[in-house]
Amino acid sequence: MRLPAVNPEPHPSSYYAATRREAAEFPVLSNEVRSDVCVVGAGFTGIATALTLAERGYNVTVLEHHRVGWGASGRSGGQMLGGLPGEAALEKYWGRSHADTLFELGYRGHDIIAQRVREYGIDCDLKYGAIDVALRPWQAEQLKRMHEALCLRSMESQVRLVPAGELPELLGTDKYLGGLVNMRNGHLHPLNLCLGEARAAVDLGVSIYEGSEVTGIEHGPQVLVRTSQGSVRADTVVLAGNGYQHLEPAVLGGKVFPAGSYIVATEPLDSREVAQINPLALAVCDMNEVPDYFRFSTDNRLLFGGRCNYSGREPRNIERTMLPRLRKIYPNLADKRIEYAWGGNIGIVVNRVPLLGRIGANVFYALGYSGHGVSLSHAFGEVLADAVAGNSGKMDVFARIPHRKIPFGQKFGSQMVALGMLYYRLRDLL
Ligand SMILES: Cc1cc2nc3c(=O)[nH]c(=O)nc-3n(C[C@H](O)[C@H](O)[C@H](O)COP(=O)(O)OP(=O)(O)OC[C@H]3O[C@@H](n4cnc5c(N)ncnc54)[C@H](O)[C@@H]3O)c2cc1C
Repeated sequence: MRLPAVNPEPHPSSYYAATRREAAEFPVLSNEVRSDVCVVGAGFTGIATALTLAERGYNVTVLEHHRVGWGASGRSGGQMLGGLPGEAALEKYWGRSHADTLFELGYRGHDIIAQRVREYGIDCDLKYGAIDVALRPWQAEQLKRMHEALCLRSMESQVRLVPAGELPELLGTDKYLGGLVNMRNGHLHPLNLCLGEARAAVDLGVSIYEGSEVTGIEHGPQVLVRTSQGSVRADTVVLAGNGYQHLEPAVLGGKVFPAGSYIVATEPLDSREVAQINPLALAVCDMNEVPDYFRFSTDNRLLFGGRCNYSGREPRNIERTMLPRLRKIYPNLADKRIEYAWGGNIGIVVNRVPLLGRIGANVFYALGYSGHGVSLSHAFGEVLADAVAGNSGKMDVFARIPHRKIPFGQKFGSQMVALGMLYYRLRDLL
């Protein structure tokens, strides 16, 4: 019998897709295969987990609905930021008892990324240096507390509080009331990182299938993972579908909500303009709950992102939505051409603590980084690989955190989260 053709959706048209360095495409799964581990989703979480498992000798199959890096991973702002979302909820539950583990996890992804870039020769424009910036006086106070906390963690040589008066020189704008530079953080080309890691995983024996949406999971001592044209029988399954996945609704439904975030890329600026507005090429993120974030690409385009929505619908014109925000910070760039505009779904969790845990004995999941997944997904890939090997200590620190389930499905849930976010948005404006 001839199976119907499957055409995976290509990467959305973005600066990243236009400058991808790995051309590999992978086949559609069209038979039954056997694997130690089956990973569902080929973003950072799925690929980082598969690569760690392959480094440890496991036989791994990755199933991706569209293309490797098609989701948030291949569209993100590319800011490699330390720390954990949901810190307050984690501390409320655990007190200080896991503070060291959590701090280390918050930066562990940075080390994994750096090591992979070196070891596998991944060309993804990794650059160090980032700055959080305050728009309100209380945010400037918060930066001071963050600075103190990082110094207590022996990072005093990597972090620096920047007074408002110095910011025009550093960022070419007087819109901010203070900043915290962190040279341990950085930025990178996220699609090229994800594709480079996929290539490294394949070199170590991982099988990747694109255009292969997982439509059902049958639990058991061996798990059967079905796609429309094939299946994988595996000892263990890892769900890594983030804001795009709908599997296992009884456990995960109503807990992760897709929030849209959007980015525009200008035409390349000349070196004089670059020196005026961001001479250290820092990744910049404001302190709002719904932040704006920006940085230079390696060819000197300003990549400017922000503006969440919870409708699941892309704005009719991303450029028109984002430009006033960019011009507010950099009015002098008003006449620059916008050459790319795109968006994607961030997986948001109500208390912001990423969902990491297991269903039954052998189905694991990690999703919902609330906009902080570039680095953290890599740390979680290692935590998941440990759990597959029977060491679930770090996973359990997250698995025990209670998560509120918002009823009435993803649609209404997203709107309820939107209401909650409106509260934060109003707070941002105060
Ligand atoms: C516009 C934007 C900007 C961002 N900026 C930053 C930033 O600067 N810094 C930062 O740290 N984070 C940022 N994020 C968040 C970050 O990109 C994500 O947290 C991270 O990439 C999540 O990786 P992931 O692999 O878990 O999910 P994704 O990259 O979303 O991948 C999930 C994959 O699973 C696949 N999938 C889903 N269901 C199925 C199924 N049933 N079968 C097969 N495949 C399936 C999807 O097709 C998708 O490819 C941003 C996100 C967006 C959208």
